[in-house]
Amino acid sequence: MKYGGTSVENAEKFLNSAKIAIETYNKGNEVVVIVSAMSGVTDMLLDAANKSLKGENISQIINELRSKHFEACKNIIDKELLSNTKKSIENLLLDLEKSLMGVHYLGELSLRSKDRIVSFGERLSSLILSKTIQSQGLSSEKIDAFSLIVTNNMFGEASVFFDKSYTKISDSISPLLKKDTIPVITGFIAKSIDGDITTLGRGGSDYTASIVGAGIDADEIWIMTDVDGIMTTNPKICSSAYTIPEMSYLEAMELAYFGAKVLHPRTIEPAISKNIPVRVKNSTSDSLGTLILKNTKKNHKVVKAISIIENASIIYVSGAGMIGVPGVAANVFKALGDNNINVYMISQGSSEANISFVVSEKDVEKSENALRKAFPTKDLVRDISHIKGVNIISVVGKGMQGAVGTAAGLFSAIAKDNINILMISQGSSEVSISFVVSKEDGHRAIRAIHKAYLE
Ligand code: ADP
Ligand code: ASP
Ligand code: MG
Repeated sequence: MKYGGTSVENAEKFLNSAKIAIETYNKGNEVVVIVSAMSGVTDMLLDAANKSLKGENISQIINELRSKHFEACKNIIDKELLSNTKKSIENLLLDLEKSLMGVHYLGELSLRSKDRIVSFGERLSSLILSKTIQSQGLSSEKIDAFSLIVTNNMFGEASVFFDKSYTKISDSISPLLKKDTIPVITGFIAKSIDGDITTLGRGGSDYTASIVGAGIDADEIWIMTDVDGIMTTNPKICSSAYTIPEMSYLEAMELAYFGAKVLHPRTIEPAISKNIPVRVKNSTSDSLGTLILKNTKKNHKVVKAISIIENASIIYVSGAGMIGVPGVAANVFKALGDNNINVYMISQGSSEANISFVVSEKDVEKSENALRKAFPTKDLVRDISHIKGVNIISVVGKGMQGAVGTAAGLFSAIAKDNINILMISQGSSEVSISFVVSKEDGHRAIRAIHKAYLE
């Protein structure tokens, strides 16, 4: 059972989340809880890290963190339990302050230090949730995922060594479950083989939940969040969005990969490997949410959901010298891969004189530098250029497989709204079609497709 930041944003939400875990346990289930940092805390920690780097005073942020977390302990009624919890919070904040001082004095903020600094968010919230469960009379233990999840040292977005992690998870968690204890595990964070703290990427607590779920062979993995499950699109963009009762692993993966923030893009992988159903539910309502399974019942709808990746950029690589020369595309993508740049979409014109692809806006300069290094002369690649500020819209649905005219229908729905398409790509599985529009058109495109296919 994983609680996101909004499900622990204050003392009431901590108590609510603790009660759901206890209720589920009292129905005869074994329960393992994963928790994110309190809403906004990861950003506050990153802000503190950047301020320390610039030599600015961080005492105000530390004070804010202290009062936010102290305030969140309000429902730990037992006096001794409360005072112990506050002491542990103080100790964590002291440790955090030391890390921030390190950044300040060295004038250096590596990805490694950043991961160490943001890890405090989950370390604080897991402490409070575990103590809130204890204060309701149940046995609970807070566990830092450092001792469970082993990764490489790609700080900021580390890769998990599954077999090693599964063994550690099962060895540590199973005995606790036998002792009728509810473990509360930090989401998002892990440790590298060398013993450094790493993170699994923003929003990574969902991923922690499925890694732990797979490690203990859970019957179900529940992602408890602030909406009624996976919806036809982000309800913040389109007010007529509604909950999808069932999805396949493949559909959920495509949707998450293409930007639906409700699930971290890698959440589904560990679940697939052990065939564990994933349920996405609202932590503050009784709705059933969305059940994600290997196979779903047939759904007559062609399009199931629409997602968006904002802050993306198209990069164009062109040159007449590329025509008919084998290996140019391979070298383009090798250069990007070697620099850890994630490519969302690729398109190559049939003339072969150009290749275009989409990356996150933050990776544009890094991509262009990598390509200039890989193609130092202008013989093959003459021009490298980009358009910043584009959105990728992805339309997902198993029903699109073999359905004639889906692409035509989608594009005419968008054309009616006068929206210009900059690039198109269809996944080979036919479960999704993605296209790129300028950022001014992104939300309008979503609403146009939602209206045409889902209302
Ligand atoms: P948590 O803190 O629980 O991890 P997130 O903010 O990471 O929650 O994810 C939930 C949010 O994802 C929702 O509030 C919603 O705005 C957004 N979202 C984007 N796409 C979708 C979608 N297709 N269905 C539901 N929510 C979505
Ligand atoms: N706290 C982390 C973040 O804000 C992880 C998570 O919330 O899932 O990205
Ligand atoms: Mg999230």
